[in-house]
Amino acid sequence: MEELLSNTQTSFDDISESYERICEDIKKAMAEAGRTDEVRLMAVTKTVSPERINHAVSLGVELLGENRVQEFLDKRDSYAPAEVHFIGGLQTNKVKYIIDKVTMIHSVDSIRLAQEISRRAGQHGLVMDILVEVNIGDEATKGGISVQSVRDFCSEVLALPNIRLRGLMTIPPPGCSEEIFAEMQKIFIDIRDNGAENINSTNFLFDTLSMGMSGDYTAAIRYGSTIIRVGSGLFGYRKYKNQES
Ligand SMILES: *Cc1c(COP(=O)(O)O)cnc(C)c1O
Repeated sequence: MEELLSNTQTSFDDISESYERICEDIKKAMAEAGRTDEVRLMAVTKTVSPERINHAVSLGVELLGENRVQEFLDKRDSYAPAEVHFIGGLQTNKVKYIIDKVTMIHSVDSIRLAQEISRRAGQHGLVMDILVEVNIGDEATKGGISVQSVRDFCSEVLALPNIRLRGLMTIPPPGCSEEIFAEMQKIFIDIRDNGAENINSTNFLFDTLSMGMSGDYTAAIRYGSTIIRVGSGLFGYRKYKNQES
């Protein structure tokens, strides 16, 4: 496990500046793409202290992304109320800790995980919004459903009682070409418009494409992303104990 040593010391002013720049970039990329819908900026908060998260929220950030269960549970009482989505790899046995504390889970990549989310949501009288994670680069080392299996996987998920399928998420290979984003957009639109099996009146609201991080969010927006997940671009680089400084 990587152990956090410190965040590089970007000041509150740096966060404010980065936030303004990102908002400008979003506007520009949307205009270039002729988009008039909404792109949400998610602040990815791994390794970020509650004070800095609260500063981002005070600037106008409304959506936070957490990807480590324990870190999230340790921090959540110290930060300002904001909507939180879970975006990291999620072990089935940890679902119970977060099920009533987040409003969406982006990283659903196995039917076992989807089943557990549905079961735990049911226990709380909830319907959980989820995204299916797609392994768009077909990288052996990465989680996510293969491109060929996405529709069938969506159909399986839609058979579960306490889940609402909101769309797709991806973590493309670093430095990948824009064609990857274009392919992702195509898969998204295809399922959105043509559906999958087991859709009923309440379990399918396919309106969310979660793609784009600090290095590539403007390209992702040009290809239809509706949530960009930005960590280091907002809070500064993360630094871990096992890393050279
Ligand atoms: C860390 C992380 C991000 C943000 O990455 P940055 O490059 O720091 O913007 C986005 N999505 C996921 C799933 C992450 O784990």
